Amino acid sequence: MTTADDGIASIETFTVTIPRETPYLGALGPGESVNAAGYIVRRGNRTIYSTVDRSVVVRVTTKSGAVGWGETYGLVAPAVIHALIDDIIAPIVAGRSPFDVEMIWEDLYDLMRVRGYQGGFWLDAIAAVDIALWDLKARACDRPLHQLLGGRRRDTIPAYVSGLPKPTLAERVDLARSFVDRGFDAFKFAGVVSFDGIETEMAALREALGAKIKLMVDLHWMFSPAEAVALIRRLEPYDLSFAEAPCKPEDVAGLAEVAARVGVPIAGGEEWRTVFDARARLEARAVSIVQPEMGHTGITQFMRIAHLAQAHHARVMPHATIGVGIFAAASLHAAAAIRDLPYHEYQHSIFDRSAQLLDGRLECTAGQFALPEGPGLGVVPNAMLWDHVVS
Ligand code: MG
Repeated sequence: MTTADDGIASIETFTVTIPRETPYLGALGPGESVNAAGYIVRRGNRTIYSTVDRSVVVRVTTKSGAVGWGETYGLVAPAVIHALIDDIIAPIVAGRSPFDVEMIWEDLYDLMRVRGYQGGFWLDAIAAVDIALWDLKARACDRPLHQLLGGRRRDTIPAYVSGLPKPTLAERVDLARSFVDRGFDAFKFAGVVSFDGIETEMAALREALGAKIKLMVDLHWMFSPAEAVALIRRLEPYDLSFAEAPCKPEDVAGLAEVAARVGVPIAGGEEWRTVFDARARLEARAVSIVQPEMGHTGITQFMRIAHLAQAHHARVMPHATIGVGIFAAASLHAAAAIRDLPYHEYQHSIFDRSAQLLDGRLECTAGQFALPEGPGLGVVPNAMLWDHVVS
């Protein structure tokens, strides 16, 4: 008989690489090119992206053979995650019970705190293992994960469409229209690839989609506080639902200034790893919509961020990034349990592919995500995913 609490025997890491036709965020813009390592630097936000989709999947196995699955962000330098798990995490957690998952998160975080590793790759590596341990724990209880996270508040999760990766504004508007025809009612466009101008893009989308559709913008940390205030005020007449990441993430005071001076909610949080990141921004009233990314936070910190948001009367709209669907499934389970959660981000080009890479129910139709069914995360890698494992 397999049991989850007989101790962790092994943690294996796998990099999954999937080619894509159009780069993430859309076609290359003026002055953008692919370098020798396969990376693009977007001029709008000076951020590096990969031409392929990539993430790191982990498999945690207990002494009796019970298995849990986790995943983290692996878009750039995924070998770093392998090294951190093999060299530090796996030997430290060997023999411990997955039922101690929250203690394990805290013990791992302690290991590197004084060296300044309070985010980035180190916390991503912890997140992958954390998700796998929660999966093991829920499977051992024969319960879907959301039941261990506080209960099932909703049977489906409302989805907002994120990104319209087409080269021209006319094509982006047409793509948005096709989603409205399929029952979606909320969109976020990416300012970093609004090559005709953010205000022009907003006006065109509002004109084409009508007054009832919710429109949001991701500003990708591009502006000074004063620039952000001026821009967001120009977007307000088009009924903007929220403005995401207007200023650099480390400028908490600048973000708070923007939040105080505009009439729409400010959203942020995709780069956070821990509740400590959330605390600084919530206490400063810099954000009123928090967007935790499960691939960075793991389940333990995702839930702590959500609970802190609730204590600050902020709303939660989880972020969605590039993965094979394992951390996406974890995010949906968490979303089912969080009280004030109007929408979960829907990265259609990423999420829709997950159903081919994983066994289990991953669907987003008519503006709603289904909740994965069955014990644990309710998803496991299938043969097609293994075809994309390169290391
Ligand atoms: Mg964003």
